[in-house]
Amino acid sequence: MARICIVCHNEGNGGYPVQNDVVMGAIKKAKQRFGVAQNNELVVHEECFEAHRKKRERFERDLAMHFVFAAIVLIVFIVLPIFSGGFSITSVFLGMLLGVLIVGLSILHYWPKTTFSPKTVAQPAQPSAAKVQLPFMKKEEKHEAKKPEAKKGKRK
Ligand SMILES: [Zn+2]
Repeated sequence: MARICIVCHNEGNGGYPVQNDVVMGAIKKAKQRFGVAQNNELVVHEECFEAHRKKRERFERDLAMHFVFAAIVLIVFIVLPIFSGGFSITSVFLGMLLGVLIVGLSILHYWPKTTFSPKTVAQPAQPSAAKVQLPFMKKEEKHEAKKPEAKKGKRK
């Protein structure tokens, strides 16, 4: 079983295994049904991870937007008609159909996630080698030069 990177499509050792989720399972089943399943182990190379992360983030953003859009459609087609008295079973069906379609469209940008993520390299707390030497707290001593008070108005 070859390990194939989903970013660069090359074989290679190592890498982070791709997580099997609903979509991955469906794709696998579909491939098996059509007899094109390759049974490769899907991974993401260490050096491909940055590209993978971006794709995954894009998909997640996309999915969230599709859900928001679907929610708006449901409100417009189902919730608003209830309050405006224009409720009809047709609009409910239409709203649900559109909602499912909109969410389903996000699969165009589908990108799986990996089971492991590289740990963000913990930055070692660097105690600055050169310790800042606090200047010895010097009290600024005011040398009050005690001037002999000039006596004013010298008596002649
Ligand atoms: Zn790769």
